Amino acid sequence: MEMVERALGGDRLSLSRLITLVETDQRAARPALQELYPHTGRARIVGITGSPGVGKSTLVDRLIQSFRAGGRTVGVIAVDPSSPFTGGALLGDRVRMAERTLDPGVFIRSLATRGSLGGLSRATGDVIKVLDACGFDVIIVETVGTGQAEVDIIGLAHTTVVVVVPGLGDDIQAIKAGILEIADVFAINKADLPGHQRTVAEIEMMLDLGQGQRDWRPPLVATIARDGTGVDELRRRIDEHYEYLTTTGRLAERQRALVEREIVELVTRSLADGALGSAREGGWLADLISAAARRETTPFEAAEKIVQAWLARSGK
Ligand code: GDP
Repeated sequence: MEMVERALGGDRLSLSRLITLVETDQRAARPALQELYPHTGRARIVGITGSPGVGKSTLVDRLIQSFRAGGRTVGVIAVDPSSPFTGGALLGDRVRMAERTLDPGVFIRSLATRGSLGGLSRATGDVIKVLDACGFDVIIVETVGTGQAEVDIIGLAHTTVVVVVPGLGDDIQAIKAGILEIADVFAINKADLPGHQRTVAEIEMMLDLGQGQRDWRPPLVATIARDGTGVDELRRRIDEHYEYLTTTGRLAERQRALVEREIVELVTRSLADGALGSAREGGWLADLISAAARRETTPFEAAEKIVQAWLARSGK
């Protein structure tokens, strides 16, 4: 496919178009993704998450500089699953990064929710593949908050950086509620503000309590994203975590788990599309739904009928 060849050859317009295709129409994008897949698997994927306003965008901007100074190319995917209207807010933040996009070694893209949250996580995974295949050394996935969609998206990263700021009791609550498990590295940003030491102490204490049998203790890095303080150290910690994943064999495990999740999703969707499509075409899906709504049958029986009819049909 010409668009794929051009994108692989470094043409940014083709890369941009490819991402739009992947984002909007997975079925149409399938041949392209098929062709790209053998080129994937080389990029290092870094997730950055935290509440709104903690300084993620500023930090990402600094991290880009730090990776670039080391000669690495960087792709950024900024995702906000919390609302379908975030394009605006994110784009506002992106303006500060705009100058960086003149650098051919940097590519930045925002993804907003369209349709289901599962769709967003799927689109993020596919955009990662495109950037990976096109040779970006590091892919940063920036996402807001702590919901299930964010956790799914952040699960695509090799290393997850959780950004917190001093003096936000709520933040600490959010960490307790589960972010702790996904953090590989903590960035305690806005270290220029009061209360910084206390936040560090609180997180260290939570780590002491929750350490369990984990053999990687997430390091805490104090950063001032505004002036770049601590950002090189943060980058080094991210690299160390990747090294840890590689040397312990965890990277390979993680890749396998991700591929497994993807195959399971594809099979699930394919079977569901087939069975439901067949019942819809046959005109009896709506009848079954109505019957279950009137309590003349149950959703279990309805589902079973749909599956059985599909099996009988495809067994022919
Ligand atoms: P995001 O919503 O997490 O992406 O946060 P932004 O990067 O948009 O930053 C939110 C605000 O915090 C902006 O006004 C930044 O200038 C400010 N900010 C970012 N980093 C720092 C920092 O290290 N110290 C201080 N004092 N302010 C910061």
